Amino acid sequence: MKRIAILGSTGSIGTQTLDVISKKEDLEVTGLAAGSNITMLEQQIRQFHPKLAAVGDEKKAQELRERVADTDCKILGGMEGLMEMAAMEASDILVTAIVGMIGIRPTIAGIQAGKDIALANKETLVTAGHIIMPMAKKYGVRILPVDSEHSAIFQALNGESSRAVHKLLITASGGPFRGRKREELENIQVEDALKHPNWSMGQKITIDSATLVNKGLEVMEAKWLFDMDLDHIQVVVQPQSVIHSMIEFVDGGIIAQLGTPDMRLPIQYALYGGERRFLDGERLDFAALGSITFENPDMETFRGLPLAMQASRIGGSMPTVFNAANEKAVELFLKRKIRFLDIYTIIEETMNAHSVIKNPGVEEIITLEQETYRKIESRW
Ligand code: NDP
Ligand code: MG
Repeated sequence: MKRIAILGSTGSIGTQTLDVISKKEDLEVTGLAAGSNITMLEQQIRQFHPKLAAVGDEKKAQELRERVADTDCKILGGMEGLMEMAAMEASDILVTAIVGMIGIRPTIAGIQAGKDIALANKETLVTAGHIIMPMAKKYGVRILPVDSEHSAIFQALNGESSRAVHKLLITASGGPFRGRKREELENIQVEDALKHPNWSMGQKITIDSATLVNKGLEVMEAKWLFDMDLDHIQVVVQPQSVIHSMIEFVDGGIIAQLGTPDMRLPIQYALYGGERRFLDGERLDFAALGSITFENPDMETFRGLPLAMQASRIGGSMPTVFNAANEKAVELFLKRKIRFLDIYTIIEETMNAHSVIKNPGVEEIITLEQETYRKIESRW
């Protein structure tokens, strides 16, 4: 029996993780956590019977405590609660499916308690990869990727020595605005940006896919997960989203992982630590698909990717500033306070104004995030 705790159980990845678990006899839920959606969390508690549940919002935690008083589930609140849930004794794996840098501290708590991490939360490695990867090694835990691109690489790597890898080829759909030029993006509305052609995801990551910031974050993450430098990571646009990523090996051979766009496969693969199990769902039909096409990303229009790569090359605290500036910009865009292209302007201006801290600790990263938010709020 694998005992699983989920941070962010009410979100897109969280609910799909529960869907995978509900179909497997040897997977069990021991802990759940969300930000504020206690209505859904209550349903999940009643269906999956975890021992612990945590709610980021303390008031909502109290409300949930009253609502589920008839169950055996203990309810925790606030950051302390999230961390306690992440480190709970009764679990083996922690799924980190929270959105945002708020995921860093609970992830660290999980690692220090010896939990394998099924990692969806991008911000953890993007901003604190230099802390997380050595820590995982020290505590002997595995970081199992959930994101489809990193899972594809993890699947393609199966049995190969990391010395045999020459290059990672990370695929991108190109997002809903692929093929458009800058002028054509000036009047993009929130509704347009929330329509992803192939994947159904949370709001923040859907906007990030439209700006290509998401691909930038994935490149930054891949660097840490697979210990590769940026000169050996290439983004390839593959609009049908059936190739989820590829590895080019030193002999020129390439191994790709293909499948329909369904996050339940990478989630399940991570939960079983890289073992294959049956999964229902649509299979890839090549004849129906007809063709798979490729292009280079348009880095001039979709500045999210080159800006992310620049932040990653500079390193230190710059990825945190890139990420925090993007988070704030996406929030302002979703609130219709800025225009689509302002997202790039905000990221670029904020990065230019930042003096890099070389080896930031967790506290510095979190302080810097808040400072970055405040600076942007005062200017926009
Ligand atoms: P969603 O927005 O759908 O879900 C976010 C989850 O985080 C919810 O459960 C939410 O709870 C919880 N949460 C938000 N704020 C807090 C908080 N302060 N304290 C505790 N919990 C909080 O996001 P996604 O599932 O799309 O994405 C989650 C992460 O996975 C992101 O980092 C994303 O980049 C990454 N990812 C997502 C993919 C996808 O297909 N969706 C693919 C690959 C990676 P509540 O509902 O209560 O607000
Ligand atoms: Mg992805």
